[in-house]
Amino acid sequence: MKNVVLLGATGSIGDSCLNVIRQNKEHFHLFGIGLGSNLDKAQQIAKEFSPEHIFIAESHLDKSHDLFQSHSNILNTENELQALIQDPSVDIVISAISGFAGLKASYFAIDAGKTILIANKESIVAAGDILMPLAQTKNSEIIPVDSEHNAIHQCFPPHRDLKEISKIMITASGGPFREKTFKELSGVTLQDALKHPTWSMGTKITIDSATLVNKCLELIEAHYLFQIPESQIEIVVHPQSIIHSMVTFIDGSTIAQMSNPNMEVPIANALGLDQRLPINFEVIDFPGLNLSFEPISDGRDVIFEMAREVCNKKGNLGVIFNASNEIAVDAFLTKKIDFVDIYQVIQRTFNHFSCSKVNTLDDIFDYDKQARIQAEKVIKSLN
Ligand code: NAD
Ligand code: MG
Repeated sequence: MKNVVLLGATGSIGDSCLNVIRQNKEHFHLFGIGLGSNLDKAQQIAKEFSPEHIFIAESHLDKSHDLFQSHSNILNTENELQALIQDPSVDIVISAISGFAGLKASYFAIDAGKTILIANKESIVAAGDILMPLAQTKNSEIIPVDSEHNAIHQCFPPHRDLKEISKIMITASGGPFREKTFKELSGVTLQDALKHPTWSMGTKITIDSATLVNKCLELIEAHYLFQIPESQIEIVVHPQSIIHSMVTFIDGSTIAQMSNPNMEVPIANALGLDQRLPINFEVIDFPGLNLSFEPISDGRDVIFEMAREVCNKKGNLGVIFNASNEIAVDAFLTKKIDFVDIYQVIQRTFNHFSCSKVNTLDDIFDYDKQARIQAEKVIKSLN
C-alpha cells in the first residue's frame, strides 16, 4: 500500500488521479490532499477517501465551511505543507496544482527525495535549473504525468543511454484555432478559446493550448526532464490526439505511445511505477482511425523560437517566459486584453530581460516577480 499526497486534488488532473486511485484502492491510500479552491469538492473527497491531512492554500480559507466542522486538522501554512509532503510515511507526491503556484510543492517533494508525479509543468519550466540537479542530489524520482512526457517516458524508460535517441516528436492537437491563420486570431473570443477539441482540462492550460504556449512549455519541460537538446525535439500537430508522442532511435525505429485522449492513462502509468494498473478505458477503434500530422499553424513560430532559446540558454529565461504567459492569460481571462495580445505580452516581456544564471529558488521567485511587473506594464501600454 502506497501513501499518496495529491496536490491540486480539486482540479481536472486531481479528478483523473482520484479516478485511478478509486479503481486501485488496494494499492493506494490517499494520505493527504492539497487545494486552492472548491471546498465542497474537498469535502466530498475527504468523505470518500478519508485523507489524514487536508491542506488549503492560505488565501482561500473560508472557516465557515462545513469542511472545518468535520475536519479539525486542516493545514494552511507553507511550513505545514512542507511537513505534510516530507512526512516519512509519504511514498508518492502528485504535483497537480496549476501554474507557478505549484512550484513550492514540487520543490518540497524533490528536496525530500520523494517520488514525484509531475503534472505541474510550470515548476519544471520556471525552475528546471534548480529542480533537476536537486532531484539528482536527493535521489528523487520525477515521473511525468503530462501525456506527451509520459508517452516519451514509456517509449524510453529512465536509465537508458540517451545516445540511443535520434529525436523526440511531441504531438500537439493544434487546439481550437488550428485551422486559423494568425490574422484570423484577432476576432476570437474567450468562449472560442475555452473550447478545446480533444481534451477537457483546467482553464489556464486550455488557454495555453489555444495559443500553443502549452507546447512551448512542454518543449522546455521535455528538454529538462529527458536532458535532450532542443534541436532533437520536434513538435508535430496531430489533431486526433491518439499518439501522445514518439521517440525515434538511432537504428531507425520509431516507438509511439497511443490511447484515446484521457489523462487517466498517463496517470495510471505514472502511479503504477513499474507495474501496469488496471483502469477502465475506451479501446482505440483502429479500423475507424485516420491519423494525420501537419506542421504548426503559421504565425506562431515566434513563441517556439523563444521556447527554444529558453532551452539553449536556460537560467532566468524559463521563469520569465512562464510568468509573462501567466500574467497574459490572466488578463485575457478577465477580458483586459484580446487573445492575440497574449503573444505581444510574452514577447515584449521576454525581450525586456537578458539571460542570467539562477542559483537558488529565491532567484526564481525574484525573477518571477520582476517578470510579472514587466508583463503588467506591457498590458498597460496596450490599452
Ligand atoms: P485546474 O485549474 O483544473 O486545477 C488546479 C488545482 O490546483 C485545483 O485543485 C486548485 O484548487 C489547486 N490550486 C490552485 N492554486 C493553488 C495553490 N496556491 N495552492 C494549492 N492548490 C492550488 O488545473 P489542471 O487542468 O488540473 O492542471 C493542473 C496542472 O497539471 C497544470 O500545471 C497543468 O499544466 C497540468 N496538466 C494538466 C492537464 C489536464 O488535462 N488538465 C494535462 C497535462 C498537464
Ligand atoms: Mg500535455
